[in-house]
Amino acid sequence: MKFSLFSKILLLFFITICSSEAFSKNPNSVVAHRGAWKAKNFPENSIASLKYAIYIKCIGSEFDVHMTADNVLVVNHDPTYHGLTIEKVTYKELLPFKLSNGENIPTLKEYLKTGKNANTRLVCEIKPASSVERGRVVAQKVVELVKAMKMEKYVDYISFDYEMLLKIRSLDTKAHLQYLNGTKSPTELKADKINGADYHYSVFKRNPDWIAESKKLGLSLNAWTVNDAKDLDWLIANDFDFITTNEPELAFERIKNAPIQKDWKLVWSDEFNYKGLPDDKKWGYDVGGSGWGNNEQQFYTEKDTSTAFVNNGILTISANKTIKENKQYTSA
Ligand code: MG
Repeated sequence: MKFSLFSKILLLFFITICSSEAFSKNPNSVVAHRGAWKAKNFPENSIASLKYAIYIKCIGSEFDVHMTADNVLVVNHDPTYHGLTIEKVTYKELLPFKLSNGENIPTLKEYLKTGKNANTRLVCEIKPASSVERGRVVAQKVVELVKAMKMEKYVDYISFDYEMLLKIRSLDTKAHLQYLNGTKSPTELKADKINGADYHYSVFKRNPDWIAESKKLGLSLNAWTVNDAKDLDWLIANDFDFITTNEPELAFERIKNAPIQKDWKLVWSDEFNYKGLPDDKKWGYDVGGSGWGNNEQQFYTEKDTSTAFVNNGILTISANKTIKENKQYTSA
């Protein structure tokens, strides 16, 4: 049985209550996660993936940094490389092993050189080290290299290690810093001079108030790692400054076609981040089997999980073959 037109209109009305206030959306918030590697099958965190992120004009290209035992900063996601623990071996010991496209494991120096003068920001994730102390040393070495290469204006720093960010702030008062771990409110970040929240998108879905709070405080909003059209759409509608993704091409397409580009502005949404009946504070019921001027065959029930139920981010409205009063079906 299909939904009545009335139900569909009602649902659409509630889901997209929009206004046409003048609004300008940054047309590019796409940050390639470990470079743009997927479409061309480049290795993640390779020079090739950075070059491709620059080529397709991502606003940023993210990468991960570790330091070898002889203090060489290298770009790699894991703390190990071909079974070697990066911080316990020398750079030379890593060189026999190549990336799948034949590159050596990139050094941070090579990475910065590749990104110099590009319009793509270098989003430098400094990975936590084996101790907080060593982490601070790695952060210091990274900042020193960035400064020595006069690359300050090209680089943003991100980390799961809050101490590292505080260390970078002590070394560079202007650096753009974003925290990754999702455990600090925007107000706490602001107090510590951290410039933005760069959290898993589920953190923002659980704490939707942090979006407005960040904007009010002038913090940047960044979410990772967002690869689904529907999640991208939600972040675009909420006007995130940066969206970190393995699917930069898809993100560009979603941004180009987003309602926000036509001056539409999201003013209300329900993310259905709860379980059970629809939230009473947001939703109401039309009850009865009068046909609704439409000769509808269902009886609309109230607060009935057999007809309206929220789970896993989705509101499901069911039509059931159940006799209710004078009707053969129930729905909501
Ligand atoms: Mg990373």
